[in-house]
Amino acid sequence: MDDCLFCKIVAKKLPAQVIYEDDDAVAFEDIHPQAPTHTLIVPRHHVAGLKGLSHDDGALVGRLMVVASQLARKKGLESFRTVINTGPGAGQTVFHLHLHLLGGRPMGWPPG
Ligand code: AMP
Ligand code: ZN
Repeated sequence: MDDCLFCKIVAKKLPAQVIYEDDDAVAFEDIHPQAPTHTLIVPRHHVAGLKGLSHDDGALVGRLMVVASQLARKKGLESFRTVINTGPGAGQTVFHLHLHLLGGRPMGWPPG
């Protein structure tokens, strides 16, 4: 999508600190980190968010989780949190599906 921030990062039209990429997913550091580790994992193809996914999207969402698991292991995170904000009321500000990988500090529950 032409006007999508994360599509532009995936296409390397905007700079980002990309730490992993494969055919399905790209991972880069969040520009406003909320924890010592704050990485975003996004599908290479534009998907607006978790709303309206179909059965066929299962593998893609699974891939994001597997990449999060592998990056957490690589970063030596004993504990970490994965978050997908869905809709403005839940804090979604970029409407290209992304998984937040957060770690490196204690995390409270429930989240705000
Ligand atoms: P969300 O609020 O769940 O939609 O998450 C969007 C995230 O994207 C926020 O944590 C932002 O800090 C992050 N973000 C916004 N612009 C950029 C950018 N250019 N590069 C990296 N992360 C970004
Ligand atoms: Zn996009």
